[in-house]
Amino acid sequence: MPNRDWSHLLDIPSFPAENYAVLADRLGALMGTRNDVLLIQAEAVLALEAVATSLAHPGLKALNIVSSPYGTWFGNWLAEGGADVVNLTAAPAQPVTLEAVKAELEHHPDIDILSLVHAESASGILNPLEEIAALARERGILTIVDAVASVGGHALDVDGLGIDIAVIGPQKALAGTAGLSAISVSPAAWTLLQHAKAPRISMLSLLDQKEQWLDLGRHSLPVTPAPLEFFALQAALDRVEAEGMSEMQQRHELAKQATRSGLLALGAQLWVPDPVASALVTTVVLPPHMDRKTFLSRRNIAGADMTAGVGPGTERLVRLNHTGQRATEEAVLANLTAFSQALEVHGHANDLDTALKTAIATYRR
Ligand SMILES: *Cc1c(COP(=O)(O)O)cnc(C)c1O
Repeated sequence: MPNRDWSHLLDIPSFPAENYAVLADRLGALMGTRNDVLLIQAEAVLALEAVATSLAHPGLKALNIVSSPYGTWFGNWLAEGGADVVNLTAAPAQPVTLEAVKAELEHHPDIDILSLVHAESASGILNPLEEIAALARERGILTIVDAVASVGGHALDVDGLGIDIAVIGPQKALAGTAGLSAISVSPAAWTLLQHAKAPRISMLSLLDQKEQWLDLGRHSLPVTPAPLEFFALQAALDRVEAEGMSEMQQRHELAKQATRSGLLALGAQLWVPDPVASALVTTVVLPPHMDRKTFLSRRNIAGADMTAGVGPGTERLVRLNHTGQRATEEAVLANLTAFSQALEVHGHANDLDTALKTAIATYRR
C-alpha cells in the first residue's frame, strides 16, 4: 500500500444536490432501464435486504432461486417478513436449470415474484437470466435480480428483459467503491411494494425512498449523504462511460476466454462449461489429494488474485479473479502464472510457456 495521505479525504465539500438525480439516471442507463433508480447509501447486501424486507408480507408467494449464499439470504429475508417462499436450490455451485424453474412454476401457479442472482462471483457461474425472465413475464410474475456482480461484466438489459427490480453495486465489474448501491424499481413493483406490512422509517424501506426522494423531485437524499462515496461513484461512472458498457463486457469476456484457454493448456479442470461460466472469475477444480490451503499459499505472485470458492459445492474450487480493473491481459497472465507455480510446487508438471502463449493468442485473435 503506497504511503498516501488519507487526510485529503477529510473536509471535502458536500456533493452537489442536483447531481444525485444525474447519478441515478446514469446508473439507469448502464442497467438499460427507464424505471426509477434509488441510490442506497450502503453496500449492496443492504440493498438486497431492503428489497426483500420491503416486498415481504403474508400472502406474497415467492420462487427464490438459490445458487449461492446471497440467494439463501434473500429467501430468509422474504420468509422473515411472512412471505411464502419456495426455494429452488441449484446443484451446488452450478447454475439453475431452465427445466427446474419451469417445473416449479408449473407446480406453484400462484407465485407472485421470482428472485435470482445473475452472475455469481462466489462460484463463477452464470444463471440463464434471459430465459428465466421470459418465463416469469409470460406468467405475470415480477422478477427481482441481484445483478451486483454481473453489471459491467455481462449484458444487463433490465427493460428489455422486463426485470421489475434489479440491484447493482459499483464494486465488482464497474470497479468503483463498495459504499453505495442502486435499485431499479418498475411501476408494477411499486404497486406490489404498497402493502400494510411495508417497513417505514427504516433504512430498509423502499417506500420511504420513494416518498422522501422520488416524490419530492429527487433533490436532497433522505439522510445525510456521504460525499466521498458519491464523488467516488461519479468518478467510477465517468470511467465506465469513457470505456463504454459493451467494450467493458467485451474486456471481461476476453479475460474469461484467455483464462479458460490458458488453464486448459495447464491441464486444469474447469468447473463449468463456457456458456454457463461467468466472465468475472474462472473456477477450477483442484486435482485430487491437493490441499487447497497450501495450494493457495502460492498465490502471492505480483498481480495475481487466486482465492477459494465461496459457498456450498465450492470446497474443491479455486477462483481466478478477472473482475473490473483486473479484466486485463496482464492480470490474466499473472493468475495463470500463480496457478502454474502452485501446481508445480505440488509436483504437477505443467507447461506455463504454452499456457501464456495460448492466453496471449486469445488477445491477438
Ligand atoms: C458481491 C456480491 C454482492 C455484494 O456482496 P459483498 O458483500 O460484496 O460480497 C451481492 N450479490 C452478489 C451476487 C455478489 O457477487
